[in-house]
Amino acid sequence: MARIFIISNRVAIPGAGNQPGGLEVVLKATLRKHPCVWLGWSGEVNAKPRTRTVTHRSNSYIVTDLKPEDFDEYYNGFANRVLWPIFHYRLDLAEFSRRDLSGYLRVNEHFADELVKVLKHDDIVWVHDYHLIPLAKALRARGLNNRIGFFLHIPLPPPEILTAMPNHERLIPSLGDYDLVGFQTDGDAANFARYLAKELGAPSHMSLRLGTGDHAMRIGTFPVGIETHPFTRLARQAVKTAFVKQVIESLPGTLIIGVDRLDYSKGITLKLEAYERFLAANPQWYGKITYLQITPKSRSAIKEYSEMESAVGSAAGRINGAYSEASWTPVRYVNRPYSRTTLAGLYAAADVGLVTPMRDGMNLVAKEYVAAQDPENPGVLILSRFAGAADEFRDALLVNPYDPDAVAVAIARAVAMPLGERKARHAELYAALLRNDISKWGDKFLKALNPPEKKDEKALRNFAPGPAVPEPGRATRQ
Ligand code: ADP
Repeated sequence: MARIFIISNRVAIPGAGNQPGGLEVVLKATLRKHPCVWLGWSGEVNAKPRTRTVTHRSNSYIVTDLKPEDFDEYYNGFANRVLWPIFHYRLDLAEFSRRDLSGYLRVNEHFADELVKVLKHDDIVWVHDYHLIPLAKALRARGLNNRIGFFLHIPLPPPEILTAMPNHERLIPSLGDYDLVGFQTDGDAANFARYLAKELGAPSHMSLRLGTGDHAMRIGTFPVGIETHPFTRLARQAVKTAFVKQVIESLPGTLIIGVDRLDYSKGITLKLEAYERFLAANPQWYGKITYLQITPKSRSAIKEYSEMESAVGSAAGRINGAYSEASWTPVRYVNRPYSRTTLAGLYAAADVGLVTPMRDGMNLVAKEYVAAQDPENPGVLILSRFAGAADEFRDALLVNPYDPDAVAVAIARAVAMPLGERKARHAELYAALLRNDISKWGDKFLKALNPPEKKDEKALRNFAPGPAVPEPGRATRQ
């Protein structure tokens, strides 16, 4: 059986004591079914970087340290200060420097050097996320002909935004060296195809011959899901745990829940503002409703993130200052992580899931909230139309997160929604969850990356064979 090489910025080594990250959950089925080698950054910064291998069952984990300047330029710099904001449509927050771009390219070269030491000719390589866009190019430059796929977990903006990124032409076309480039939504995939059409004169459909050598690059949509049934079972159990019971008892009345990492893409301050407007317009709810916002800190070393920490804290304080009674606190703002079990129990207990990112690749909190509901008495999901999940969740109350008045109206509608409508919406949402369950995700991608003899056309949405296009750099506009 061919080995699957998974390459990502961070590696989740089993039993290493870390909180399971999102990538570990989405790759769980792949790691179980195939012999895998997972390679990435160890999380350690060292002037003399070491690379080491850990074996667990039939899988190996290769982790390599970063030098201090690599950590600054590749991770804190280019990945977090340029690619993250721009891919989330926030050009205004990007801080570009050539030095950071060089560091980013250097780390990709380092990963390629580590990989060529261990790759065999029939291994399949699956690269994850925005930290490693040019990795295939670095591998091809070292003579590798393996099947190499790439999946972008975050959104890809339209070319009008992407082309404002300095040196985009050094980076984005290098995706052409992959055999398959996967996105969360059709919109992201279409943005990429439009970029290629605009910048490289590629035909604006979804199969392209691009990049070095004769690799045909294809584009596909593979929405990330969750482990639906296991999460539903977890939520059933979790509501009975002592801690969750204690939290629920301390929050009488109707419960709205928000669970977001502290990140500007999540729109937490505007969400609080929407709740404030809901309170201002609906005094009948005073004393009878609580909004629980759970927000673990992230990336506090970056200025925008520490500023956001105080902005969210003061918005919560302002609302509580204006509306609290001795017996009622309208907002409960919690600044720390919880176990999956506790979160599942809190989702299950909440009457409304308020998920309003300004832009999000997928948003798994929305999916977890739906999975946790009791189908006989489900809560209501209010979801930003700019979350990737909105493509599949047409039966959520879809809102524009930039419009706090509209979100306030959606909150009022959600808390008053009759049981029949709640059940009907939940049934549709749950069916959507099952259609894209995460247990099938890895295989869908790998099958599309390495199709059996007879190509399975269904494996790729929007796939249409097309003529060759010139290599980047020699492209003529059509
Ligand atoms: P992102 O990957 O941008 O953080 P997602 O909504 O796609 O956003 O995924 C977030 C994941 O992190 C979910 O699985 C969610 O359960 C988990 N998570 C979010 N907040 C917390 C928290 N306070 N404690 C533990 N896990 C959390």
